[in-house]
Amino acid sequence: MRIIKYDDIMSAKNQGRKKVVAHSASLVSPYARETALRFGIEIVENLSIKREENNMRKPFIAGNWKMNKTNRETVKLLNNLKPLVSDAGDVDIMVAPPYTSLTLAAEILTDNNIMLGAQNMHQEESSAYTGEITADMLIEAGCSWVILGHSERRKYFGCSDELVNKKLKKALSKGLNPIVCVGEQLEEREAGNTFEILRRQVTEGLKEINDPVTIAYEPVWAIGTGKTASPEQADDAHKFIREMLADIYNPEIAEDIRILYGGSVKPTNISELMAKKNIDGGLIGGASLNAESFSQIVKF
Ligand code: PEP
Repeated sequence: MRIIKYDDIMSAKNQGRKKVVAHSASLVSPYARETALRFGIEIVENLSIKREENNMRKPFIAGNWKMNKTNRETVKLLNNLKPLVSDAGDVDIMVAPPYTSLTLAAEILTDNNIMLGAQNMHQEESSAYTGEITADMLIEAGCSWVILGHSERRKYFGCSDELVNKKLKKALSKGLNPIVCVGEQLEEREAGNTFEILRRQVTEGLKEINDPVTIAYEPVWAIGTGKTASPEQADDAHKFIREMLADIYNPEIAEDIRILYGGSVKPTNISELMAKKNIDGGLIGGASLNAESFSQIVKF
């Protein structure tokens, strides 16, 4: 049972949201109610937000732990998470811990409904690339997924569209399931260039690719900032990406491809996002580091 608390109201206030949605199964604490009243924030209750019925794609919630969690912390988080999501139902769940935790995580995640992914990989088979990791190493460690082209890789580690494309080709050739991240920076959105950026990232990233791949739309300005794209903004971007996928593959394949949204997703905003026609899941950073919040997102 999820409880809407004071913090939920304050984060809505800080983000300029006028509405907090409580699921039918949620409780609202008296203090949260009082605070909402004080700041003129509406609590919409007993609203069972459903995914649009014509969205047949299986929801996919993935956690990107980034540079967090030692081995000991990994054991704790996964052991807390497992029972919380064991009854999650028809949703794919994946976690991407740091490399050092992968083998251990794979052992903990045997025989349950959580899949394992990595946060990046090198595009070459093997060679003198100090500090890098190959697809084979990830597979042997137990990964079935790999995140490619995350905005932090693009920003801090020079990951270009061309490199994303090379990594993607290598991952697919090895049978790893990639999640390709795309998304515009704040200045690009403000200059009205969002779709142009997405077009470039998708076209270049998926060049000469025939296999369908999962995409994550992550507006850079929403990552780790507490600012979420509105469900409408996210859905517009997802729709645009799906139209591009229809050109790259064909309309049937594009309909089947899952496009995840990432950027300050929390238990309080996931349902509104998932209710949108083109949003098929979430790539979750901060909120995946806590078993309780990640499980609430999984059970949106
Ligand atoms: C991410 O790292 O992909 C991400 C979306 O982070 P956060 O959820 O913390 O914004």
